[in-house]
Amino acid sequence: MHPLLLDLPPEAWDLGPEPDYRRKQVAEWLYHKRAASVAEMTNLPAALRRKLDATYDLAALKLAKLQGSHDTTRKLLWELRSGDYIESVLIPASPDLFGERSDRFTLCLSTQVGCAYGCKFCASGLEGFKRNLTPGEIVAQIVETERHTKTRINNLVFMGMGEPLANYANLLQALAIINAPWGLGLGARHITVSTSGLAPQIRLLAEQPLQIRLALSLHGASDDVRLKIMPVNRKYPLAELLDACAEYQEKKRKMMTLEYILIDGVNDSLDQATLLVKHARRLHAKVNLIPYNTVDGLDWRRPSDFVIDRFAAVLHAAKITATVRREKGHDIDAACGQLRLKQLKAAA
Ligand code: SAH
Ligand code: SF4
Repeated sequence: MHPLLLDLPPEAWDLGPEPDYRRKQVAEWLYHKRAASVAEMTNLPAALRRKLDATYDLAALKLAKLQGSHDTTRKLLWELRSGDYIESVLIPASPDLFGERSDRFTLCLSTQVGCAYGCKFCASGLEGFKRNLTPGEIVAQIVETERHTKTRINNLVFMGMGEPLANYANLLQALAIINAPWGLGLGARHITVSTSGLAPQIRLLAEQPLQIRLALSLHGASDDVRLKIMPVNRKYPLAELLDACAEYQEKKRKMMTLEYILIDGVNDSLDQATLLVKHARRLHAKVNLIPYNTVDGLDWRRPSDFVIDRFAAVLHAAKITATVRREKGHDIDAACGQLRLKQLKAAA
């Protein structure tokens, strides 16, 4: 196995005696033309193509399974060079008011194989943590998804498998490639990073220059409720976490999102809704309510529609922007980590 070309910034590529403008040409083939092989890079001299082939690998991922169709959520299962599996989810924007097919696509990316944080409701944490994805493996999910589905992705959410902020250095390298004009050229305001609540890394992210959007997986509006389902709350209790988010909001002046899965009998009380209003006000945040998506082997359930609507009504009455996300990919295991879990079980 050779090093992955996508893992390195262009200035680090070993191109032998070639002049520097070749770096720009190679980057164009990789990121603008989405080349699948060095052989396609026809404006490079043959000697350089041979050198690239002998020194680097191009393919970071192999498509193992694709579920769904053009107008629905599509789920892609990838096999990494290490033999591990990860997944990405491609979500079309809702058709516009005139009913035309949308050409806007959001890709939900994984950042780790497994997850160390072990939230009790989540499929990604069930098998524990295996390893961090490299920058190239993160970026390849975008390039390969575009190639396999013939779509152009214009929005990214880091809400797949893994905790992005626990893989901070690789995440930032990937973001640099995604954002750079020589790379994918996607604006930071079209990129959302979701975290289960790593307060120090939220502060780090606030310090760096990119205007990335932040989503916090809150899922409980008080320490006692959060502790029942999210072990990370032992390390970073709510007060510290909300302070870090407030700092992010102040520095970036961007509306952040509070993600709140509704789980029957766990976090769906009116008291929690009232506390959630308080946090959302302080952070100038909007709230995404997500009725729990059942995971094989876990006993949690989503509340009834009545309870979901009652919870949302508390937020709306307080003039908090809140949407109930009726899971688009419900039928194809779109919640994070579920497709990989099936793959692991089938292989066992
Ligand atoms: N580790 C990060 C990002 C990945 S999880 C985080 O936790 O924020 C992306 C989102 O999917 C999180 O908000 C997570 O809590 C949510 N999620 C996990 N399992 C789910 C399920 N079974 N149903 C609905 N949402 C789920
Ligand atoms: Fe990890 Fe996020 Fe799943 Fe928690 S919700 S186990 S942090 S992927």
